[in-house]
Amino acid sequence: MLRLFDTAIGDLVEITPMTSGQFSMYVCGPTVYDVAHLGHGRYALVFDVLRRYLEWRGLKVRHVSNITDVDDKILERAEAENCSPAEVALEFEEKWFLTMDKLGVLRPHHIPHATEYIRQMISLIESLIKADVAYVGEDGIYFDTSKVSDYGLLARQSLDSLKAGARIAEKEFKRSPTDFVLWKFSEGSSWGWESPWGDGRPGWHTECVVMSVDLLGEEFDLHGGGLDLSFPHHENERAQAAVMHYKFSRHWVHNGFVMVGSEKMSKSLSNFTTLDELLHSTDPRAYRLLVVQSHYRSPLEVNPQTVSEASRALARLDATQQRVGETGANLDEAELDQTELAAFADAMDNDLDTPAATARLFELRSRINQLLDDGRVAEAANSCVTMAHLLEVLGLDLKGIWNGEITAEVQGLLDERAEARREKNYALSDRIRQEISALGYAVEDTSIGQKIKKIFEMPE
Ligand SMILES: [Zn+2]
Repeated sequence: MLRLFDTAIGDLVEITPMTSGQFSMYVCGPTVYDVAHLGHGRYALVFDVLRRYLEWRGLKVRHVSNITDVDDKILERAEAENCSPAEVALEFEEKWFLTMDKLGVLRPHHIPHATEYIRQMISLIESLIKADVAYVGEDGIYFDTSKVSDYGLLARQSLDSLKAGARIAEKEFKRSPTDFVLWKFSEGSSWGWESPWGDGRPGWHTECVVMSVDLLGEEFDLHGGGLDLSFPHHENERAQAAVMHYKFSRHWVHNGFVMVGSEKMSKSLSNFTTLDELLHSTDPRAYRLLVVQSHYRSPLEVNPQTVSEASRALARLDATQQRVGETGANLDEAELDQTELAAFADAMDNDLDTPAATARLFELRSRINQLLDDGRVAEAANSCVTMAHLLEVLGLDLKGIWNGEITAEVQGLLDERAEARREKNYALSDRIRQEISALGYAVEDTSIGQKIKKIFEMPE
């Protein structure tokens, strides 16, 4: 049975789905005012792996992840770029999904947008005012955190210590530093929606309550996101849900930060400012492998060295699969190794221990090479199919086994090179060899002419 670390309990708990055979999860999505950074990529991958694993275990998962398209940062960018907030939001939402597609992150089943839920948010805020847990301040409507007896649960701190550590920012008119805005009055800005309290915009913490309950019901299995969301965002969601007597999320799961040189990832420190920059120079599968080789709750170190190690490890997996393919073994008839499947499930059930699961897959890879060295091809084929199957559960597809086909471009270069060699123009023939190599193929000259191979091993 799957056990995960539940932030609300502060310990590992057994995850029993609310409805047998099903699983409902809400993962807080991006605020679309800028391109995704490495931390976004990490949380998206962590919850993608969780979803894939649950589906592999036979659960029917319902995955909801929102787009926050109302936020002051969107407005600031729109003002700076002289366009509308909706245009900014649309631009960065499109970019977000392009990046997620590169990473192979499965689309959530529902992608609610905050702007589609304004009416429901107003209605929730009205209920909170009626329940006497919200008050009207000078610049907006605030939630009174002192009215929720266990406020601070997800921060694992008491209300008093949270108050002591917080301060009221300038231009905020709240009674306590932990109180949070539910509705912000529009000040001069034209961006806002009509409400019983005048034009304004909803606060961030209200949208996820409304959208999760609408799409998953008043009680659902899991609410997740990056560790930075546990407090205040998730705690503020939980506080509103508690007042409404929603059972709300049964479990709260958070992934750790991305670190660059042992400091929390930030633009100024990062070698890869954005996720796209990293993915431009690196196989997106390598970032996924790097993420799963680290435990989801641990800090993840991303630097050129860890990225290139992951790239090389990935190339070794690809190369082993290719080696098995080259034996001509019939992989369609190979059988999955049940012992390996069980060991994989054991590791994953233990708080999603993807580092242990992947370490075992690398051991399996070494065994496959040993089996091939010993000429035990059928066993190697079974192990290889098992390895590829389990990597797929982690969202990692190995490069398909090369069937010997090459593109017209490569064939053209091969023909040119053959001509150059006939003319003994070895300088030209070497240049063409380099061009072919840049396209991912190695040429060997044999007694019967040129022989071409796909390059799977990355250069050291
Ligand atoms: Zn949220």
